[in-house]
Amino acid sequence: MSSGTSNGEHRYVIIGNGIAGTTAAEHIRKADGAASIKLLTNEPHPLYNRIALPPFLKQKIARQKVTIHNEAWHAERNIDLMLEQTAVRVDPLAREVYLASGATLPYDTLLIATGGRANPLPNANGLQNVFNFQTLDDSLAILAQIERSESAVVIGGSYISYELTEAFRSRGLQTTWLMRGPRFLRRVLEAEGGALVDRIAGRHGVQVIHGVEIAEVRGQDGKVSEVVTSDGRVFPCQLLGVGVGITRNVDFLAGSGIETSSAVLTDQCLRSNVPGVFAAGDSAEYYDPYVGHPILMGTWDNATNHGKIVAQNMLGGEVPYDDVPTYSTTLFHNRIMAFGATPESNPDVEAVMWLDEASESYRRLFFQGERMVGGVIIGQRKGFPKLIDLIKQRTPIPVAEREQVLAQSVQ
Ligand SMILES: Cc1cc2nc3c(=O)[nH]c(=O)nc-3n(C[C@H](O)[C@H](O)[C@H](O)COP(=O)(O)OP(=O)(O)OC[C@H]3O[C@@H](n4cnc5c(N)ncnc54)[C@H](O)[C@@H]3O)c2cc1C
Repeated sequence: MSSGTSNGEHRYVIIGNGIAGTTAAEHIRKADGAASIKLLTNEPHPLYNRIALPPFLKQKIARQKVTIHNEAWHAERNIDLMLEQTAVRVDPLAREVYLASGATLPYDTLLIATGGRANPLPNANGLQNVFNFQTLDDSLAILAQIERSESAVVIGGSYISYELTEAFRSRGLQTTWLMRGPRFLRRVLEAEGGALVDRIAGRHGVQVIHGVEIAEVRGQDGKVSEVVTSDGRVFPCQLLGVGVGITRNVDFLAGSGIETSSAVLTDQCLRSNVPGVFAAGDSAEYYDPYVGHPILMGTWDNATNHGKIVAQNMLGGEVPYDDVPTYSTTLFHNRIMAFGATPESNPDVEAVMWLDEASESYRRLFFQGERMVGGVIIGQRKGFPKLIDLIKQRTPIPVAEREQVLAQSVQ
């Protein structure tokens, strides 16, 4: 491997200090005590736990519990943490990263671990108290506004909109949850699963409305005051939560020659098409051996494990990422867990479904040909490790036996 400085130390630059980037930095340092490691982020905070933000919003945990590492942790490991620094361009021929501040960072090996940013509501009219929910700073701003609010509206049909809905309701706000589609996670769940989520949300006092968009956001004194839906209904609110998807932070790579689609395209070792440039976590669209093509993931354990694997490969290894990522969160008093490839990442999968109304348990398994590739579980997790094994072992499951596999998993 080339060494870039006069002292012969290898220069690693990592853009993004989320769990993927920070884990990679930590593992590189463990293996190479002499290397220069620059870990930069456009946020003002060292690594914090994004999946702890929902319980923080519900005030079930204190702010200290959200922090994972402080600045001292980085200093002790000689990891140069550069806060509030935005990478605006990469030149892989010169092996340089350019920052908004005007600084240039030369590198020998580069990691893009820039995650995603929440999509804004296009017609929010610049009103205050309309919030995305992606960062610690978003959470602090939402917390302050919860204290001043009686009613809230949430728009979106995916996890972030659910997290906002649950948090607002659990903090005692009158909460209306609007979705453009026919149900929560419209591709992952089908009608009966969606109806179960609605029943659970309704039991917790949430008003759930499907098939609507926000036609107009109205305000008073520059602050949101009510929302008008596409079917003409008006919902007063002092807080509007927006969970309408994320855009991967890879636009700054335009023109660099680093290949992207929705994120940086990588092989199974998380290498981009450009030598010396890697990607990990939410900003990697990596080759998934279970479905046989690149997929996008947005889960904490996927980003963590990417960080570990990519570090080995940045150090010169050739370690393929071979895992079944799981996204698990509360569903009011219940729980939901999605694992592996779902129709969200892989629209062509086929599915079988099981529902037990009494115990509010539901599962849907996804298949590609004779192999199971993923699933979603609401309620009891019985049989989950076996399902992961079937995916990992690539066990052949004839089409006629899919229902049997599903039935056995809940016995
Ligand atoms: C509210 C919330 C709840 C979640 N709950 C769950 C859950 O229950 N379970 C689960 O599995 N997953 C959950 N997730 C998803 C999970 O948190 C992410 O998949 C994971 O954090 C991704 O980590 P990452 O390191 O790839 O990216 P990120 O954590 O997004 O980190 C990327 C960092 O790079 C910075 N950056 C971006 N562009 C630049 C640039 N040009 N220059 C410098 N810095 C840049 C970003 O600001 C950010 O700090 C949740 C996410 C959110 C927002």
